[in-house]
Amino acid sequence: MLRLLLTLVVVITIVAIDAPVHAQDELTLPDESLFTDPVFARPGMAGVAQPYLNRTRYLLAIDLDSATGQMRGQARILFVNRAYVAVDRVILRLYQNHPKHGGRRTDVLDLAVNGAPTQGQFLDTDRTIFSVPLGAVVQPGAGATIDMRYTISVEGGGFYYVSEPYPIVAVFDASGWRQDVGTNSLDYAYTESALHVVKLRVSANYATYFVGMPKTVEQSPDGSKTTYTIVTGPVRNFIIVQGRGWRDMTISGASVPIRIAFSGRQAAAEEIGQIAVAAFNFYENQFGIYPYAELDIVSMVFSSGGEEYPNILFINNERDSVYRRFITAHEVGHQWFYGIAGNDTLNNAWLDESMTQYAGYLFYKYTQYGGANSAETYWASILTWYNRLQTVRPLNTPMTGYRDFNDFMSNIYGGGAVFLRELGEKIGDQAMMAGMKAYVQNVYLGIGTLEQFYLSVQAQTTIDLSDLFCQRVGVGCR
Ligand SMILES: [Zn+2]
Repeated sequence: MLRLLLTLVVVITIVAIDAPVHAQDELTLPDESLFTDPVFARPGMAGVAQPYLNRTRYLLAIDLDSATGQMRGQARILFVNRAYVAVDRVILRLYQNHPKHGGRRTDVLDLAVNGAPTQGQFLDTDRTIFSVPLGAVVQPGAGATIDMRYTISVEGGGFYYVSEPYPIVAVFDASGWRQDVGTNSLDYAYTESALHVVKLRVSANYATYFVGMPKTVEQSPDGSKTTYTIVTGPVRNFIIVQGRGWRDMTISGASVPIRIAFSGRQAAAEEIGQIAVAAFNFYENQFGIYPYAELDIVSMVFSSGGEEYPNILFINNERDSVYRRFITAHEVGHQWFYGIAGNDTLNNAWLDESMTQYAGYLFYKYTQYGGANSAETYWASILTWYNRLQTVRPLNTPMTGYRDFNDFMSNIYGGGAVFLRELGEKIGDQAMMAGMKAYVQNVYLGIGTLEQFYLSVQAQTTIDLSDLFCQRVGVGCR
């Protein structure tokens, strides 16, 4: 997942306050009956929310005053212990406090568990890992309600981009609570799909975009504020994007509306929209149904090329059509390889980054969108990383196993994609695409593993892939 910080993004700090803010006009938390409201889903897909009622869910009320640069938040986390052991604390992640990932300061205020006030504790000096004592042992399958308030100061002007503006429950796996602080790659967040309902109040004179769909949109009596009640369905992230003077257009031709937000560079935005529709249709046809009601794309100057979240993504609108075809195919592909088929982004980045690199190649090869040579033109972008490869590492190398950023990027964005193309050429592209589809369907909104991908592909061919996977991915070894 591409997560280089925007140079033009506003600096955001979360400010400690000694006493809770109880302004008269304070938002109330949204109703939890909305968790499974079908508004988030395309027709026929609302049922994907049901299993997530038995997992951790988030009710958020966020007041973003663009005029004063103040954000006040309330979070109610309906925690469910999905671990295989009892826990007596919950680890919350505040990734963007890390100096490399935003350098923001977050202070959790008014913390309570099951209504009883308590104190949490940051476990790292960069304040990205926050431990909340539950006050009792919570057995597997049981839960607790965690309430908190927080205030965020947003300094900046016409554009806001606030990703994950709330504490997120860490993943609990065989190693325990995941407390990784990833600094070698573009990615640093590892999150699981969860239901969110968000009440979001913003200045009405900004265009506002977010993960999820609005159930209601209300204007304040004086017209200065808009309050959205947003239902996300099962998603791994929640973000808010606001732009003063921004516009959007909806591009038709895909099975859901694809909406492009832009401010200037309209021709580039339109081109990104057309590529996105073609790529979306190819991926959906090959890899399985997209569950959400809409896909939003923010077309803007973006330092890392792009960045993906469930049903919203960023695409750099600079440079030429060749570059736009590369980055749009990659980022739209993340809706399937990251959003729908999730993975451990820190230890198995190959499963989303290499896969989207390769999926884009397949898109151009089989549609020839952009011309007969478009697949090899696209592939040339992958080779720019591959050609920088100095140490070929197994693709199951965890983030901490790479020497530096270049080592990670050349292996995952280059070497991993080259391995997938070679695999496709060995077993046939149709078998490869069938394996990728089986993998997406097996994982659907969960966390996929290397073993799952290996077995999904192996099931499509009589060619024994065990040695190949063993050598390159560390699975299938005899
Ligand atoms: Zn990516």
